[in-house]
Amino acid sequence: MIKTDVVVVGAGPTGLFCAHQLGIIGLKCEIVDNLDKIGGQCIELYPDKPIYDIPAIPECTGEELTNNLIEQIKPFKFNFHLNDRVQKLTKENENWIVKTTSGKKFQTPNVVIAGGVGSFEPRKFPTKKCRKV
Ligand SMILES: Cc1cc2nc3c(=O)[nH]c(=O)nc-3n(C[C@H](O)[C@H](O)[C@H](O)COP(=O)(O)OP(=O)(O)OC[C@H]3O[C@@H](n4cnc5c(N)ncnc54)[C@H](O)[C@@H]3O)c2cc1C
Repeated sequence: MIKTDVVVVGAGPTGLFCAHQLGIIGLKCEIVDNLDKIGGQCIELYPDKPIYDIPAIPECTGEELTNNLIEQIKPFKFNFHLNDRVQKLTKENENWIVKTTSGKKFQTPNVVIAGGVGSFEPRKFPTKKCRKV
């Protein structure tokens, strides 16, 4: 059982910046993401595409944004749990018990769900088999 102040579900830009703000107020976070890398949609879907709508950054790519967010939270030394999906949340007295598909268990009074559009999975093309006549 891993005990922590906050479990952040999702290591996309929202989860990363949220963890930064939690670190600033002195809370310890464990960050879980289903993907094998940090950065959510920005790194998985458009690492090379330019982004123009980040305050104070005229232009950057999805990868550069991700790298900057990672750099920003480095001082807090938070643990990342990648390739792992949060599957179940249950309440036990004052705490949440967070269970993942790999079997990890966290005990925490706070959970931040920064899951964006959800955990990514390949979508199968919906073909049908032809019927034999
Ligand atoms: C092609 C494209 C171009 C875009 N261009 C721009 C742009 O130029 N400017 C802009 O502002 N926005 C842009 N966006 C939108 C932007 O990427 C999203 O708004 C942003 O990524 C949302 O961040 P997020 O952290 O909330 O969610 P996400 O980036 O979706 O990250 C959520 C993370 O949570 C994880 N997760 C979800 N559920 C679980 C679970 N149960 N357990 C573990 N992990 C979980 C996912 O694996 C994912 O990594 C674009 C989006 C796309 C697809």
